Amino acid sequence: MESDPGFIAALEEAKQSYAEGGVPIGAALVSKDGEILGRGHNMRVQKGSATLHAEMSALENSGRLPASAYEGATMYTTLSPCDMCTGACILYKVKRIVIGENKNFMGGEEYLMNHGKELVVLDNEECKQLMEKFMKEKPELW
Ligand SMILES: [Zn+2]
Repeated sequence: MESDPGFIAALEEAKQSYAEGGVPIGAALVSKDGEILGRGHNMRVQKGSATLHAEMSALENSGRLPASAYEGATMYTTLSPCDMCTGACILYKVKRIVIGENKNFMGGEEYLMNHGKELVVLDNEECKQLMEKFMKEKPELW
C-alpha cells in the first residue's frame, strides 16, 4: 500500500508543501482503475486559505467530474482527515481512504467507518516524522 502511486504522490505533495513553508500534508484522489485524478497539498499558509486542506486541494485539482468518476475511488492522504475533508469524501462517495498516519492528528475516522468507508491506516514513519518536525518548528501554524 505504501508503494501505491497514490500514496507516493500524496507524500510528495506533503514534502512539497513543507518546502514551501506550508503545512506538510498531501493527498491524491485515485480512480478505481488506478488513475490519479488529482493531487494536492495543504494551502493554508501558501494561499492564506481556510478550506484548501490537502484532500480539498486534491478534489479541487481533479476538476469537476461526473459522479461516476468518484465511484470506487480512493483518497490517499498523509494525515487522518479532519471533519471537513471527511465530509467531502462522504459527499463525493469516495470508497476508500488510505491514511498515512493518525498519531499527530485523529480526524473523523469513526464517522467514515459509520458511513461504510473502507479505511486503511499505514502508520507511515515518513508521514509521522514530517508532521512532527513541522509542529516542532512552527507550532503557531498548527
Ligand atoms: Zn481537512
